[in-house]
Amino acid sequence: MTVPCATDQRRVWLRVGTLLDGISTQPLRNAHAVYDKNRILFVGEDSPPPHLVNPGQQKPDLDLPHYTLLPGLIEAHAHFFLEGGELDLEKRAAHLNKTPSELLKLARPRLEKLVRLGVVAVRDAGDKDGVGLALSRLCACADRPLMPYVDSPGAAIHHLGRYGGFMAEPIESFDSLRQCVEARVKAGADRIKLIPTGIINFKGGAVTAAPQMTTEEICELAAAAKSFGKQTFAHASGDDGIERVIDGGVDSIEHGFFVRADQLSKMRDRRIAWVPTFAPVQKQIDHANLMGWDAEVVLNLKRILDQHASALVKAHELGVQIIAGSDAGSYGVMHGLGFLDELELMDRAGLPPTAVINSATGTSSMRLGFKEKFGQMSPGFLSRFILTRYSPLDGVANLRKSKVVIFDDNVFESDESFDSGGL
Ligand SMILES: [Zn+2]
Repeated sequence: MTVPCATDQRRVWLRVGTLLDGISTQPLRNAHAVYDKNRILFVGEDSPPPHLVNPGQQKPDLDLPHYTLLPGLIEAHAHFFLEGGELDLEKRAAHLNKTPSELLKLARPRLEKLVRLGVVAVRDAGDKDGVGLALSRLCACADRPLMPYVDSPGAAIHHLGRYGGFMAEPIESFDSLRQCVEARVKAGADRIKLIPTGIINFKGGAVTAAPQMTTEEICELAAAAKSFGKQTFAHASGDDGIERVIDGGVDSIEHGFFVRADQLSKMRDRRIAWVPTFAPVQKQIDHANLMGWDAEVVLNLKRILDQHASALVKAHELGVQIIAGSDAGSYGVMHGLGFLDELELMDRAGLPPTAVINSATGTSSMRLGFKEKFGQMSPGFLSRFILTRYSPLDGVANLRKSKVVIFDDNVFESDESFDSGGL
């Protein structure tokens, strides 16, 4: 099976057994899709009208009753400046001392690898070395290389001396909260990243530090961002920190460990999306020996993940907008491959496969205000999608298996020889 490359003139017409559009809860069956190198022209269960296919073309280029077509994946939380696959703690610490240009040089080769894995867009989640901003600029330039769409908040915002110093610049460097946000916008930030809380204390099995921002501060930062036309995303775990970011009016909550059911209802009502990031905690279990965690800590970690899984299912039942992001770059969470781990963890947590796929495609594209149209199999969206004979409806882990990635006028066949070095 060889998928033809689309061009400006040459349209490609596929018929597939199953089509996931990234939005619907039910797949289309025996569906047609027509696209050129720029965009999708037609999707539907009926044959496309003649004016949308190549002149004189009577039947699809390929009829693939055993294949599934779905949008390319959107990774909504990754740190390009970090290498997730590096498991040596000393090397990870040394990595943080590299210069911005060294970090950017290490990040660049990840771009094409992500495309080959089927990741067509990445929302970078912040660094203070300008790596994400440089990649966002690269994405916007006229001679853009083969790369996913990338956008970035630049440096995250935190309080001096509190959690996040490795990826953030403190509020204290500015005269006001508004000036702090304005400086990010002037530096080219596509959105604003806040760090209102610390992280989970794995030994304590809870978020033990008090939140670092007040509700009033979060409100003011989010309002300033909005006045510049930017969305806000907030790192928050622990229910009192989560309460503050909900009341602060952010666009999405990242991590959200220990979120309560009543808070999920508020998030739904206020259209605050949730990016649950299971992978970084799972990796602490997978690599407990390397991390030096004893049996008691591992039990804590498992309990936290079980609780998180229940919250995810509850969020889905309540209708919270769930968006997939892996926190790639964190310990053990590789770029791209770690995102596939995240989707599998959401599947294992009990989210229906279509909901997992939608969280990684259509929900993201609808909610996060990206500058390009991807993440849906709908007319007008970019021609960036995945074709696979291993249906993700039979288990999202199937997305790891061999697949075809269609990306504009490129067609990539993924295979086992994929080099995951540097991710
Ligand atoms: Zn993060």
